[in-house]
Amino acid sequence: MLLAELADQLVDAQNATRRQDYRCPACHEPVRLHRGRQVIPYFAHLPRNPCVIQGEGETTEHLTGKRQLADFFADWGPTELEHVLPTIQQRADVWVARTSQPVAVEFQCSPLALDGVSERTAGYHQVGCYPFWLLGNRYARQRLNWALIERFMGWLPHWELCLLFWDVRRHRLRVTHHLYQDAAGHFGGQMTVVANLATLMAGPAQVDPYPRISLNRVRYHWAQELARATPNLRRIQEFLYLRGHHLLGFPTAFGTTGSTPPVLGRGLLLWRIVFGTALFGLTGPVTPARLAPLAQDCFDLVNGHQRTVRVSFPHLIEHLQAQLVAELVQQGYLSVVPGGWRIVHRPRWRSAQLLA
Ligand SMILES: [Zn+2]
Repeated sequence: MLLAELADQLVDAQNATRRQDYRCPACHEPVRLHRGRQVIPYFAHLPRNPCVIQGEGETTEHLTGKRQLADFFADWGPTELEHVLPTIQQRADVWVARTSQPVAVEFQCSPLALDGVSERTAGYHQVGCYPFWLLGNRYARQRLNWALIERFMGWLPHWELCLLFWDVRRHRLRVTHHLYQDAAGHFGGQMTVVANLATLMAGPAQVDPYPRISLNRVRYHWAQELARATPNLRRIQEFLYLRGHHLLGFPTAFGTTGSTPPVLGRGLLLWRIVFGTALFGLTGPVTPARLAPLAQDCFDLVNGHQRTVRVSFPHLIEHLQAQLVAELVQQGYLSVVPGGWRIVHRPRWRSAQLLA
């Protein structure tokens, strides 16, 4: 930590001299000043006497970043390093006393389990502040992946679904924004470097369209995965096989090159294939009440999620279902009847022999 208590005053490690009576501002136990050639000065608990408030082990990146972020956010209001919130037993790396709503900046450099992110986020909501997670270098080096998105993805005006990275070395913010998943399930986003808070408020100078994928290429990759018998597609292929189909022969009517929020697991295309298959497997009336649980089961089958720690998508499945059903009506596979739909004819699958 950068601050310690000394006779009811807060002392910054960079101005501190060596003495024995520094105490932790959170738990009031003794802390020691550390200063060396490699690390910037900081205070730490004695090893046998750790703090009641969990914090990350202090690295140069974390210590330096906290000071830089206190600077970066200063235009929003008075900032305070290592602000202790006793009611929730948390310590915000930087606290910004913004008039509209206080902001807790978390500069996350070390690994943090999903539960840890959830608890800290819930704590901040409990005290009515907005948690702003900025990720350090170990996260910035990763390719976009579900663990990162599930823990840290937020939503900001103009940037939409996004992850924020703080680069201590270059002293700047990088936003990966307009996060999406293509129909085949690959994560994507656009990267913009943000020099200051005004730019963060204004949003990106330009927004690129989501790239379109090639369905032939997706089929080719699935064929490879099926040939290698990777567990990824096994449950899906089993589901289809039991209904007399082979994944690679999926009907054109279920195809899509659209994108979704990055919570669709194995992607929109697989969801449409299994849901479409389930729908045309129905006998009797096709009603909203019968479709909703099918859509949900198929969503689970492709490992979809309706929420991350910080963002939820309560109507996502309904929306995807409505979209596919509307397309199927338009293409003449379904017709609208009172109380639901009627199957007019079933989309054709390509046969497995032709695919081989
Ligand atoms: Zn302490």
